[in-house]
Amino acid sequence: MKTVRTVLGDIAPERLGVTDAHDHLFFAAPAFAGQELDDPAAAEAELAAFRAVGGAAVAQWTPFGLGRNAAGLPALSRAAGVHVVAATGLHQAAHYAPALLDRLRSDGLAAFFTAELAEGMLAGDDPGGPRGGAKAGMIKVAGMFHGLDGHTREVMTAAARAHHATGAPIGVHHEMGTAAVDVLALLHGELGVPVTSILLGHLNRFPDSGIHRELASSGAFLAFDGPSRAHHATDWRLLDCLTELAAAGHTDQILLGGDNVLASARASTGGSPGIPYLLRVLRPRVAAALGEDAAEAILVANPARAFAVEWR
Ligand SMILES: [Zn+2]
Repeated sequence: MKTVRTVLGDIAPERLGVTDAHDHLFFAAPAFAGQELDDPAAAEAELAAFRAVGGAAVAQWTPFGLGRNAAGLPALSRAAGVHVVAATGLHQAAHYAPALLDRLRSDGLAAFFTAELAEGMLAGDDPGGPRGGAKAGMIKVAGMFHGLDGHTREVMTAAARAHHATGAPIGVHHEMGTAAVDVLALLHGELGVPVTSILLGHLNRFPDSGIHRELASSGAFLAFDGPSRAHHATDWRLLDCLTELAAAGHTDQILLGGDNVLASARASTGGSPGIPYLLRVLRPRVAAALGEDAAEAILVANPARAFAVEWR
């Protein structure tokens, strides 16, 4: 039986409900110093605000080592009444101290990801620290700008092995929305990950509908996760991109998320757009452009399929 692995346990996919398929409650990286998402009270308020506008589930794509607060997520999810799917995996090498990556490598990346999915995530960012209890429900990996480097290939190869061991879906950060064709060739073509377990992220940041249709023809999920200040220049193309995919028959592969990754993007502490924006502003526009049934599929049925796994 397929289930979605949330931080409060495995649930039937039809219980997931209206889902923000790519967002962040916690995120801390040296590149974003001073903009850390590290406030549990603010995260709870953000989740509650999302619930108040009809939200039922958030997939947090923060991988290991970037302050994802694995230990705190179950209590937050319970308090806010919102399902949370958490991630194992790794971001680009630039986000980590080289010594930390060396240590993870020496212990075996694939085994590390697999244990976080099957046994429980490490509570903190110390690879030698205790497990916090909650299991990851997805693997986050990242590409580079218009290509892949040694680190991102190594992480994707380990993610594919962890997928084959557990069944977990793999969510991909594409730098500026690029290199998704290379990622599919590696994860699916070379490493045999089924396309239905691949969630291609940030495609809104590279609004080339020809490439989107090519990617969609593979059968993979396509995540459009914006808007954001950093990628505002492409945000006005979002609805056009979705409309073109829907017209080509790919509505059932579209996922939507907010990817609010900085403290200044958190609505509950006065920033914007914030997680509720997805339902408050974007959903009505998607419904107007693609129809109510498509909006419902994109926010409910599609994520339920994307995160549902026959866990092994
Ligand atoms: Zn993200």
